[in-house]
Parts: sequence; structure tokens; C-alpha cells
Amino acid sequence: MSGNLVHSINPANGEVIESFSPFTAAAIETALETATERFRSWRNVPLAERAELLNRAADVLEAKAAEYARDITMEMGKPIKEANAEVLKCATVCRHYAEHGPAYMQDEVASTEAHRAFVRHLPIGPVLAVMPWNFPLWQAFRFAAPALMAGNVGLLKHASNVWRSALNIEDVFRRAGFPEGCFQTLLIGASAVEGVIRDDRVKAVTLTGSGPAGRSVAAIAGDCLKPSLLELGGSDAFIVMPSADLEKAVKTAVMTRIRNSGQSCIAGKRFFVHADIYDDFTSRFVAAFDALKVDDPMKPDTEVGPLATLAIRDELAGQVERSLKGGAESLTKPRILPGNGAWIAPQILADAHSGTPSTDEEMFGPVANLWKTTSLDDAIARANHSIYGLGSVLFSKDEAEIDQAIRELEAGSTFVNSMVASDPRLPFGGIKQSGYGRELAADGLRAFMNRKTVSVA
Ligand code: NAP
Repeated sequence: MSGNLVHSINPANGEVIESFSPFTAAAIETALETATERFRSWRNVPLAERAELLNRAADVLEAKAAEYARDITMEMGKPIKEANAEVLKCATVCRHYAEHGPAYMQDEVASTEAHRAFVRHLPIGPVLAVMPWNFPLWQAFRFAAPALMAGNVGLLKHASNVWRSALNIEDVFRRAGFPEGCFQTLLIGASAVEGVIRDDRVKAVTLTGSGPAGRSVAAIAGDCLKPSLLELGGSDAFIVMPSADLEKAVKTAVMTRIRNSGQSCIAGKRFFVHADIYDDFTSRFVAAFDALKVDDPMKPDTEVGPLATLAIRDELAGQVERSLKGGAESLTKPRILPGNGAWIAPQILADAHSGTPSTDEEMFGPVANLWKTTSLDDAIARANHSIYGLGSVLFSKDEAEIDQAIRELEAGSTFVNSMVASDPRLPFGGIKQSGYGRELAADGLRAFMNRKTVSVA
């Protein structure tokens, strides 16, 4: 921010792309009033009509994917091919709720002494979504599509470095033909969030972001007795056992750790590899990291771009330094980076000692932490050492090991022989300090609905 303006800065070269004026108090008031007014009619729009509009939103996303993807890459630096894939994934979540939303909201009939008894799903009103920059469109759409299908209306407070993308999201719904006020972007900073949550017209809040932001939002929502949903950080474990398909395990390990230049909550961040295959896995893993193409994110073949801001780069560089001082060994070769932006070299840190960032913190960038493990019991114990519990991965063909990992890994998901990925058909969320509540699938739609009990004597 400078003066009253908020800047979008290209992290690849530090240049200001665009500047925005944050909403005044009067503009926030108008948006809240518009949302409230719109909810009164939107809640009664037939489901088929809501579904049709969501399908049209998907059409808009597909038609304008190249433009929205370019804005994403310019604002936060992810490789352009990933930005394109992100926009298209947003179309899939719109189509998913258009198709399955009505079934997710069907009455649930119960058998009682009454003439009729059932649960009906009803919308609750305007919901505030506080969103992060790392998947600027996807994070917002995975909230927006089910919210709109449910008959709620959305208010988006997006991260302050991606306001062009924030406005693009509003643009999608406008172009699709949603009535004005169904989905509004509020250009506000973090300090304005409290006032919006406390406003009586706002009925619930969802946040995807860091622990400190989650704590603050949850505390305010709790004080107002409003529902909240939190998707926070993660330091997912990725365990590889001797029976694994090693080639696939290495390929997946690289992919999960460098996706979005390493800035994904559900990336594998801590790798525990069994002693029997450790040397083989490690030499392939290191060779693959050394071969990564770190370059201008606008180039179609770039695999790792800059981090989203200089502050994020500096924080990660500090974590790496502390882990190295605390006993970790860097296995990857030093490399020359592309320029003055928020660049950092992809790297693998081995054998970091406990009490260092590698074991205790989330590292948000292309840095893999690797340890040799002697058994699945040992790997699971170390995996569960984390304060986080978002996703987890096991590579193994042994059914007993798979069962044990599913039972014992403390995480919101366990993926076996593949990387953790969000999918509109599956619920998504964490436990421990990774948050609470579930997005996507039926859970995501019902997260902000009144499951009203009805009994007709
Ligand atoms: P962040 O600082 O928490 O920012 C996320 C959003 O919260 C932004 O819109 C930010 O606004 C706002 N915010 C920050 N402090 C706030 C406060 N005290 N009160 C209200 N709003 C506040 O998160 P980040 O570091 O940019 O994002 C990366 C984090 O998100 C990582 O920890 C990552 O793992 C997590 N994440 C989790 C998931 C998941 O699904 N579990 C998905 C993606 C990312 P400003 O930009 O204006 O500060």
C-alpha cells in the first residue's frame, strides 16, 4: 500500500502493475445493503435457474481463461500453464454444483410419529469470504459456487496483492447474468474485516489463509455467535515405503512440492522415506529438483516461478537459513536466479533437527524437507508431530500399511499413491491447526445452510 492506494506488484520483476483505491466506509455500507436486498429475492430463485447461471459462469471462465490466467500470473507469479489450469478448474466447480446441488439440498425424510418429518436445507444470507492470494480464483470459486447454488449471496475480501483477480471474479458472475449483488468483491484490507463480520447483515464467515488470520476471524465470529469455517496452513507428510512404485513416488513428490512454486497448503512438505529405498529415492529426487526450469512465469514451459511477494520470499529464506543452522543439509545445487523479483531456488533439506522450521513450521515455497525413516510407525509418529493436520500421502502397495496410515495419520485427508488434490466431488478441509469445517462436495454446500427440522403432525 502507498498513500491510500493498494498496488498489485509483479513478483517476477517488482514492477507495479495496477493500483486500486480501497472501498470507503460508504462503499462498504452500500455493498452490505445491496447484498441484503438481493438475498431476499435470490433465496426464492428456483434451483434450475441458479444452476443455469452457474453453468453460464463456467462458460465465461472457459471463454476468458487466457485473460484471467494472465492476470493471475502477473499478480502473484505462478507459472502461466498452472494459472490456466486454475481458471478451468473453477469452471468445473461451477458445473459440479449446477449438476449436483439440487440433490445435495434435497429434503432428508425421517420416520417419526408425525405425519411428515424431514430436514430442509435453507440459505442463511450474505456470507463473507476472506481469501488468500495463492490460488486467487480457485479459492474464491470453491466458496462461491456452492454458496450461490445454496441461495446465499457472497461478499469477497480478497488478499491485498491480487485485487485485479478479485475484480475478475465479480466480472465472471456479472457476465454470466447473475442478478446484481449476488456476488460482490469488497476492496478492503484486513483491518476492515472485523467491522464486516460484526455487521448484523452478514450471517457467516469463511477464511482461507494463515493461522493468525484464522484465529482473529474465528474469535470475532465467536464473539458474534456466527458460524465460521477455516482452511488454514499445512505441513503435509509424504511417506514412501519399500513396496512403492519408486518412479511414480519421486515424480509425485516433485510435483506436489513445486506446484504453484511451492505455495500450496496441501503440498507435501515433509518427506519420510524408508531406509531400504532412501538412497535410490533421494538421488532421483535431487536430480529432478536440480533439473527444474526456474524462469519467467509467463513462459509456457516454466516449472517454478517467483514467490508471490518479496516478504514471502524473505520469510522462506529465513526459515531455510534457520533449518540449515539447526543441522539440516542442503542436497540441491546452488543456482543463478532470473532477476530482481521474489525468487528463491528450489531445494531439498535433509535431516533437519527437531525444533527447526523444517519440522515445526509450514514452509511456503519450493523447499522439500527429507528424512530417512525406519518403519511406518516411526514415519507416522513424525508426521503427526506437526501442529497441522491438512493432508497426508502414503506411497505403498501393502494393504496393512495403507489401513494403518488411514487410521493413524492425523489429517483431514490421506491420499494413497497420489498427491493430495482438491476435487469438487470430495470434501476438503483440515484438523488440528489446519482449521475446521469442510468445503466442496455436499459438505461445502451445506456449510452455510440452515438444516431446518420440520415436523408436521
Ligand atoms: P493470510 O495472511 O492469512 O491472508 C489471507 C487472507 O486473510 C487475506 O485476504 C488477508 O488480507 C486476510 N487477513 C490477514 N490477516 C487478517 C486478519 N487479522 N483479520 C482478517 N483478515 C486477515 O494468509 P497468506 O499467508 O497470505 O496465505 C497463505 C496461507 O494460507 C498459508 O498458510 C496457506 O497454507 C494457507 N492456505 C490454506 C488453504 C486451505 O485450504 N487450507 C488454501 C490456501 C492457502 P490482506 O491480504 O489484506 O492482509
